[in-house]
Amino acid sequence: MSQEKLAKMECQECKRVGYFTTRNKKIKTRLELKKHCKDCKKHQDFKETK
Ligand SMILES: [Zn+2]
Repeated sequence: MSQEKLAKMECQECKRVGYFTTRNKKIKTRLELKKHCKDCKKHQDFKETK
């Protein structure tokens, strides 16, 4: 069994789900990434969402 699953990464500005990333199920904290958002047209904080 794989320990990884897909997590949705949501722009904190426009709430667009722009990226998917694999995460380790054992890690309890929410993932945060700086990514380019196509809607905001700039780098934004993306956080994991359910
Ligand atoms: Zn955005």
